Amino acid sequence: MNRLGAIAARSQYELFYPAQRRPTLAQDIEITRQQDSWYCKPATAIRVSTWTEAPRGQTTRYTHPIVGNDQLARERGLPVTVTTGAEDGPTLLLIAGEHGNEYENIVALQETLQSLDPAALKGRVVGVHCCSLDSYLNRTRVAKIDGQNLARCYPGKADGTLTERVAYTLQNDFLGQSGSHKPVCLVPLHTYGPGMLGATLSGYNIYPDDPELTEAQRSASLATGLPLVWGHEFDASHAAAAPLGDDASGRTALYAAFLAGVPAIYWETTWGMRGEEEYKRGLLRLMVHFDMLAGTNEAIVAREQIESVGHGAGNMASHNQAPCEGLWRPTVQIWDRVKMGDLLGEIRNLYGEPLAQIRAMRAGVVIALSRMQYIVQGAQCGIVV
Ligand SMILES: [Zn+2]
Repeated sequence: MNRLGAIAARSQYELFYPAQRRPTLAQDIEITRQQDSWYCKPATAIRVSTWTEAPRGQTTRYTHPIVGNDQLARERGLPVTVTTGAEDGPTLLLIAGEHGNEYENIVALQETLQSLDPAALKGRVVGVHCCSLDSYLNRTRVAKIDGQNLARCYPGKADGTLTERVAYTLQNDFLGQSGSHKPVCLVPLHTYGPGMLGATLSGYNIYPDDPELTEAQRSASLATGLPLVWGHEFDASHAAAAPLGDDASGRTALYAAFLAGVPAIYWETTWGMRGEEEYKRGLLRLMVHFDMLAGTNEAIVAREQIESVGHGAGNMASHNQAPCEGLWRPTVQIWDRVKMGDLLGEIRNLYGEPLAQIRAMRAGVVIALSRMQYIVQGAQCGIVV
């Protein structure tokens, strides 16, 4: 969908769901905080904030402790770099490694922070190099110690599992700050993971009851210059009622940012396709967008700008799942436009006989595909939005 298409999708949404007919979508931040039994007021929960004390005009590196003073929390502390400009200004919070088997995001963050000149920066850039150190050390998507997906555990729990405590630490010590330390934007940097290929993406939640926050996220995404910009409706009250860690909970870092009243955009890219270069350019463009670096961004129009409405619109894991295991043979490519029911590919046995056909569950653009492989049952074959 092009820009006009996205606008059409938005007004279509407003047509079907005028504000007074959306009683179940309680997306007000204060209401959501009250609904979420895990949310704590940061004023009582912030324990340590070394990065807020970092001297101006220099780069500071340290290990941020995870809540809970046990050996495991000490061993899995968060590696943080904060580059603080000579002049005060906005705080940009960048996090990588929520999933330990994704690497281009970590590399892009390292190299972006290394390239920053504190003298040229207004405000501060805070980079958490790897949030789920346990999954990184084990080369897995989720933490090995507790089997939990950090990107579904916010706002976390002070006395919970290691992953829940990491979420709690990020929610409070980083997102929960106030004044100029309150982030102007959070960017959780990801990749599609080792099994998927996809278009480099800046994504954001659409909060129907908070058009201002939604617009801040949309305009930040468009400023990145990434080729795909995708907004999807998000039901915060559903996340607030879901258990911590559940895959369909919606308890992502974007939700954590929502609880903190902070705009957030997340990025995805493919391994081995120089996505880290797109990320590095995008991060610098974001700093210009927020007036943290001088200059103006050269205009770049996204190749596709898409907005999806409906509950769960952004949950990629629910798209086009494999009904059985077998050899996955995709028949479409990234960026292809498909109609509902179009063939995306087939799952075969070793004689080349089809075991299952995967057809698009909706019309749209193919933004990601599973790479050709012996696919497991339940894996997502492709994402059409
Ligand atoms: Zn990820």
